[in-house]
Amino acid sequence: MKTLESYVDGRWHEPTSDFVTLINPSTEEVLAQASSRGVDFGAVLQYAKRRGGPALRAMSLVERGAMLKSMSKVLREKRDELLDLSRLNNGTTPSDGSFDIDGGGATLAYYASLARGFEGGALMTDGAAVPLSRSGEFGGRHIWVSRRGVAVHINAFNFPVWGFAEKAAAALLAGMPVVTKPATSTALVAQRCVEIVLEAGVLPDGALQLICGSTGDLLDRLGPQDVVAFTGSAATAARLRRGERLITANSRFNVEADSLNAAVLAPDVKTGSPVFELFLDDVVREMTQKAGQKCTAVRRLLIPGSLLTDVRDALEGRLGSIVTGNPAEVAVDMGPLASSQQLEDAVAGIVELQQDARLILGSGKRVDGVGSPAGKGFFLEPTLLEAPDSRGATAVHDREVFGPVATLLPYDGAAAAAADLMSMAGGTLVTSVYSDDEEWIGAFVECGASDTGRIYIGSEATIGEGLGSGAALPQSLHGGPGRAGGGEELGGMVGVQLYMQRLAIQGGQGMLGRLTGESQPAE
Ligand code: NAP
Repeated sequence: MKTLESYVDGRWHEPTSDFVTLINPSTEEVLAQASSRGVDFGAVLQYAKRRGGPALRAMSLVERGAMLKSMSKVLREKRDELLDLSRLNNGTTPSDGSFDIDGGGATLAYYASLARGFEGGALMTDGAAVPLSRSGEFGGRHIWVSRRGVAVHINAFNFPVWGFAEKAAAALLAGMPVVTKPATSTALVAQRCVEIVLEAGVLPDGALQLICGSTGDLLDRLGPQDVVAFTGSAATAARLRRGERLITANSRFNVEADSLNAAVLAPDVKTGSPVFELFLDDVVREMTQKAGQKCTAVRRLLIPGSLLTDVRDALEGRLGSIVTGNPAEVAVDMGPLASSQQLEDAVAGIVELQQDARLILGSGKRVDGVGSPAGKGFFLEPTLLEAPDSRGATAVHDREVFGPVATLLPYDGAAAAAADLMSMAGGTLVTSVYSDDEEWIGAFVECGASDTGRIYIGSEATIGEGLGSGAALPQSLHGGPGRAGGGEELGGMVGVQLYMQRLAIQGGQGMLGRLTGESQPAE
């Protein structure tokens, strides 16, 4: 059986015990095993700090940008191999796999392009120079500099390529060496990505290390210049946040966590209209893409009471025609959940939702998948529920079921009522709103904007243009308040600045101008 090795301290480390097995979720065949047993995490940090950090900081931003471009290129060249691995280990259809793999490559390429604004070795500044004396000769401005620590990236199971790439792009551009740790259950794809990048020799030594398996005592060794970027469940995030070392060293800790995202249909949308169809298309895609295993997937569907029957009927029809099964079969639209544990958790979650909602579509239980042996595979059909008492449906606002599952919640059509329901989840990554009524949208934004990280507006003008609320694009902020983790990734240079230190620099204005080269961050 293939053993996934960690790449640490400049070499591949072969573990000998404490293995976790990686499984094909469509067939339950064992694919590989992984463990980080025996990794010296102190040496990992030292290698990054002594070799990777100085080498990266010696490069200009433009050179680091070129490095990201090369990473994007070598990963793109292996796209077909990565798609195969993703199907095997993540159970993805070709389009689900490409969402992850092409999304990762595009994010690297985008960050490569941002570096172009820094030709000539200019420092990264923030805002204009401000006079601090009566004559104005003494002044100040803010600059961003690379943190001299290590970027530790802990990723969720659902996006092994994009998760690796989006975090690495920002950290490497900022000049920080990366230690990346994929979720063990789907580490096959991420491990291969790191191997491809290392084999291509596009990074300096120490710039990228990989942990397959547990992080051991890594987090207990971090210092004030280090950054942890975590993506995963709110429960794990809360546990890690309480880590004594993280607290005492005050290492920067960014969290991207759960989210009970809402899709909101406004009352101006008429049954059968183009925006009504757009809403249905988007909901079906956001529920079923990657079998609903996306942090940005829709979980709650807020529908004006007058449109509820039409929406329910239409969704029942569309979701009912989705073919669930082994993505190796061309007829299959939606693959399995990624592991037996994910399936168990989703099934338990549907039971919890039924405290407040009735099942409209789906059995809420494991099913056999098309093209998979009977009794094998972690398949769950698209599942639609409906809660008559939207405000009283606490489980629906509280329980993230990480699968193709969403609940219809009727409301009275008022923007404030919709925003209020959206906010009941305690902070989300994204909210999608479907309407052409700008006044209504303005009222919704006013009431609910602070409870979500992104508002995606679907209207007649965006039909055929918008990529859907589930796409976390590098140009826009990814993250959300409260339960969603409170973190900020992507969003252009905002994502890079997670790995940099902002400081004020004060002195003679002429000297400050020469020091900084007067450049502004490129967006
Ligand atoms: P998870 O169980 O919380 O695991 C996330 C990562 O944390 C994995 O790499 C896991 O490693 C690691 N981990 C667990 N315990 C750890 C510890 N004590 N120390 C260090 N690392 C530890 O989440 P998941 O099941 O992979 O992912 C699903 C969740 O992620 C969902 O709730 C989803 O909403 C969320 N998510 C959020 C975003 C976002 O951007 N906001 C994106 C994707 C997913 P092992 O695999 O080795 O246990």
